[in-house]
Amino acid sequence: MNWYRLDVHQILADLNTSDHGLTEAEARERLTQFGPNKLAEVEKIGLLKILFHQFMSPLIYILVIAGVVTFFLEEYKDTGVIAAVLILNALIGFIQEYKAEKQVQALKKMVVARARVVRDGKEVEINGEDVVPGDIVLLASGGRVPADVRLIKTIEFKADESMLTGESVPAEKKSEVISEENLTPGDQLNMAFMGTVVVNGRGKGIVVATGSRTVLGRIAKDVQEVGVAKSPLQEKIDRFAQAIGIIVLVAATLLFLVGVLVGENAKDMFMTAVAATVATIPEGLPIVVTIALAIGVTRMAQRDAIIRKLPAVETLGSTTVICSDKTGTLTKNEMTVNRVYDGQKVYELTGSGYDPTGEILEEGRPVHAGVDSQLALLFRIGLLCNESEVFKEGEDYRVDGDPTEGALIVAAMKAGLDPEKEKDRLPQLAIIPFESDRGYMATLHRGGDHNLVFVKGAPEKLMELCVDCRMDAWKETPRVAEHFAREGLRVLGMAFKEVPAEQKDISMDDLQTGLVFAGLQGMIDPPRPEAIDAVAGCKEAGIRVVMITGDHAVTALAIAKKLGIASEEEVVEDLTAKPVDSLTDDEILSLLQDVVRALAVRSGLGQVEPESLTGRHVQAMNDPEFLGLIKGLLATLVKRAGPEGAVRNVLSGKEIETMTDADLFHLVQKVSVYARVSPQHKLRITQQLLKHGEIVAMTGDGVNDAPALKAAHIGVAMGKTGTDVAKEASDMVIADDNFASIYQAVELGRIVFDNIRKVIFFLIPTGIAAIITILATVMLGLPLPYLPAQLLWINIVTNGLQDVALAFEPGEKDVLKRPPRPPRSGIFNRLLVERTIIVALLISAGVVYEFIHDLNMGMSLEKARTIAVTTTVFFQFFQAFNSRSEMQSLFRMNPLGNPFLFFGTMAAFLAHLAAIYLPALQWVFRMEPIMPMEWLRIVLISVTVVIVVEIDKLVRRIVASNR
Ligand code: ATP
Repeated sequence: MNWYRLDVHQILADLNTSDHGLTEAEARERLTQFGPNKLAEVEKIGLLKILFHQFMSPLIYILVIAGVVTFFLEEYKDTGVIAAVLILNALIGFIQEYKAEKQVQALKKMVVARARVVRDGKEVEINGEDVVPGDIVLLASGGRVPADVRLIKTIEFKADESMLTGESVPAEKKSEVISEENLTPGDQLNMAFMGTVVVNGRGKGIVVATGSRTVLGRIAKDVQEVGVAKSPLQEKIDRFAQAIGIIVLVAATLLFLVGVLVGENAKDMFMTAVAATVATIPEGLPIVVTIALAIGVTRMAQRDAIIRKLPAVETLGSTTVICSDKTGTLTKNEMTVNRVYDGQKVYELTGSGYDPTGEILEEGRPVHAGVDSQLALLFRIGLLCNESEVFKEGEDYRVDGDPTEGALIVAAMKAGLDPEKEKDRLPQLAIIPFESDRGYMATLHRGGDHNLVFVKGAPEKLMELCVDCRMDAWKETPRVAEHFAREGLRVLGMAFKEVPAEQKDISMDDLQTGLVFAGLQGMIDPPRPEAIDAVAGCKEAGIRVVMITGDHAVTALAIAKKLGIASEEEVVEDLTAKPVDSLTDDEILSLLQDVVRALAVRSGLGQVEPESLTGRHVQAMNDPEFLGLIKGLLATLVKRAGPEGAVRNVLSGKEIETMTDADLFHLVQKVSVYARVSPQHKLRITQQLLKHGEIVAMTGDGVNDAPALKAAHIGVAMGKTGTDVAKEASDMVIADDNFASIYQAVELGRIVFDNIRKVIFFLIPTGIAAIITILATVMLGLPLPYLPAQLLWINIVTNGLQDVALAFEPGEKDVLKRPPRPPRSGIFNRLLVERTIIVALLISAGVVYEFIHDLNMGMSLEKARTIAVTTTVFFQFFQAFNSRSEMQSLFRMNPLGNPFLFFGTMAAFLAHLAAIYLPALQWVFRMEPIMPMEWLRIVLISVTVVIVVEIDKLVRRIVASNR
C-alpha cells in the first residue's frame, strides 16, 4: 500500500479509526484478526540441542573413548560405571542448562518494548506486541517505532533508518502527503517504519501495518533476538579444562609406562590408567561454570538487575568505577517545588510530593498569587509549557510524564491555578519539546489579542538564548539561581513573549529576541536513602562512584555531598579551586559574598546576608582577620592556577567541551561530579576512564547515551525511564532505576567469581591426588590402591553433586569489604596454586600411608583397598567444605549456609555406605565392610586436610592484616 500518498482523513477512514484512537474492544478484535505485532516466533528451547550440547566437550570425548575401550576389553563393570558418570553428568548439565535457557527467555520478555498509543481517547502504554493497525501511536526520541506508521503530526522528528536503508544520517520526517509514485521506504518521509529509532523530536501517527506485514517484516522474515554470547570466562574455563584434560592424558600414559616398567600386569595397568583419567578429568567444570553464571543471573534478577549479556556477570565483580546519573538513580526523582523567585522576591512553597495541598509563603506569611500577578504568570508558564500530567489514583497523586514537569503543575495548583481551565483559556498551538542537549523547551499558546510564547529551562541556557535580554530581572537571576542551587535545588527559569495572533508555529528564531524573564522555580529531589548506603558500601568495596548529571554544578555538588560522593572539604575547596583568571565576575562576586558571610560569623555578628550588610557590620570586623582570609584565598587561587591546571571536584560540560582528551585524562581520576553534562561528554569520560585501566559501569537512559553505554564495560540502562535504544545498547537493565541495585549486582558478580574459584579449588587438587597416589604406590612396588571401578566410584560419589553445590554458595561476609579483583588477574591466582599443591600432596600422602599401614597389619588387599577408597572419599568430603572460603575459617561459617552442599554430602555419604555394606554393590566395587576402629582412623587421617587448610588460612589472614 502506498500510505504515504494518501491524505490523513482517507487513511483514518480506510483503517476505520479516528484521532481518538481505537477502543479497547476494537483493538482486541483486531489483535485476533491481525495477530500479535512481532516478527518471528521466539525460538523454542531446543531440548535435543541442549541434550547434544552436554556431549560436546573434549573431556566428554575422552570419557566416551574410555567407555568404548573398557567395553572391548570386556570389563563391563567399568563400562557400566563410566556410562553412569556420563549419564549423571549429562543429566545435571541438561537440567541446569534448560533452566538457564528458560531464565534467559524470561529475561528477554522482561525487557520487551513498550508503545504509547491512544485508546478510548486516552494515552496509554501497552506492550509493543499488542499494537494493531488503526492504533494512533505517539513517538518520542529514544524509542523504537513499534510498527509501520503514517505520521500525522511531527515536531522536529528525526528517525535513524540505517537498519532499513543503510543511510546513517537520520531522516527528517514530515506529515504532509507526498504525491510521487513508487518511492522506496527511505524516501517516504511521512512514514516511520517498524524497528527504526526516533533520534529527535516527537511524532504522532496511524499504524498502517504490524508484524510480518511491515517493511522490516517483509525484508527479514525471521530477525532473531540478540543471541547470548558465551562469556570470556566460560571460554577461558573451557580452554583450561581442555588443558587439564591433556595433562591428565599425559600423566595417565606415564602412569601406564611406569607401571609396566616395574612389572605390573599391562592390562591391569592400562585399565587403571583409563580409570585414573576418568576420575581426574574435571568433566563437570564447564557445566558448573555455566551453572554458577546462571545462578548469578537469577539472583541479580531477583534484586532488579536484569542481565542482558552474560559476560557482564563476571565483569561486574571487578568493577572499579560506577558512573551514575543523578536524577532518578541516586535521587528519588520525586520533584517538589519549594522555592520560587518572581524577579523581585523569593517565596517558599509548603507541602511535599505531588499532593497539590500547600501554600505559598512570603517571609513565613501565606500569600495569594492573584490572577494576573507576576507570580501567577511564573506558575502559569510552568503549568502550560509542559508535556506532562498529574492525576489522582486512589489516594495518591501521580505524574504521567516527567517528574520535573509534574512538580511545576503541582506548584501551579498550589497557587490556585486550575490546569484544565488554564489549558482551555490558553490552548497550545505548537511546541519545541525539551531535549537534554538543549536544556529548555518552548510552547506557543493562543491568547486574546495576541499569542504567547512560553519558555522554560535551565536558567543559564535561557540567558544564552536570549541575546537582547538586558533587563534588571535577568541580571539578578544568576545570583538567585545559585542561591537555590546551593540548597541542592534543581532550578528552572521561565520566560515569555507576546507574538501576533496570526502566528501559528514557533521556531528557534522566535526565542532569540524579546523574551521577558518571569522568574525561577527551585525543586528538591531528595536522595534515595538506600543510595546513600550503597555509595558508602561502594567506598568500602574500593569502588569509586562518579555522579553525572544534567543539573547545575552547584546543585549537583550539594546533592553529591548529601550522598557522600563529594566530601564537605571538597565542596569548600571547589569554590576556590579555579585559577584566578578563569573566574567569571559572578563567581568572584559569589566568592566575596562567602568571605563576607564567613567574616560576619567569625567576628561574632552571626548569620549576616551580604545584601543586608551595613557600615556598622563592616566596622565591627576584625581587619587582620579579614586580610588574612583574603590572602589565604588568593594564595589558594594562585596555587591552583599552577602548571597542573585546576584541581577540581566538579567539571561542567562546558569545560569538558574546551578540554583536550589528554587534559580530561588527567582529571577523570579525581573528579567525581560532572554537571551540565550532555551524552557526548559521557562517552569521553568513559573513554578516558578506560584508558586508566578502570573497569567502568555507566548508566544511561536516553538515545544519545547508547555510545557511552556500549563503550563502558557494563552499560546499565534504566528499566523505567530508559529508552529502547539505551536498553538495547546496555549489558544490564536496572528494573527499578535504583543505584542500590547496581551495587547489589556488583556484590553478586563478585560472589559468582568466588564460587567458580571454589569449584576449581575443590575439583583440581582431588583429581591430582588420585594420580599421585597411584603413581606413588606403583613406584613403591605396592599393589594398586584402587581398582578401576573404585576410581570411577570415587569420581561419582565425590564430584557428582558437591561441585554443583559449591556454585550455590551464598557469598562470604567480606565480599564487599575487599578491593575489586584486579581485572587482569585470572581465575588461578597464586593462593589457589599453592593451596592446590599442598592439598594434593596431603591427600596422596594420607591415602598412601593408610594403605601401607593396612597391608602391614596383614589386612586382605580387598579390605585395604576399601579403606583407601573410603579415606579418599572422606578427604574429598572435607575438601568440599574447605573450598567454601579462601580466607575464612570453616568453623565461622554456618554449616547449613549452603544446604545443597550439606545434604549433597550426606547423600553421597549414604551412597558410599551402601557401596561398602550392600552385597550387590560390594560385588560391583569389590568392597568389604569396615570396622569402627578403622572408621575412626579414616576420619582422623582425612580430617588433617581441614586442619592444614585452616592453618594456611590463618597464616594468610595474619599476613594480610599486617600488611
Ligand atoms: P541526570 O543526568 O542527573 O539524570 P537529567 O538527565 O534529569 O539529570 P536533564 O534532563 O538533562 O538532566 O536536565 C538538565 C536541566 O534541564 C535541568 O537542570 C533543568 O534545568 C532543565 N530541565 C529538565 N527538565 C526540563 C523540562 N522538562 N523542561 C525544561 N527544562 C528542563
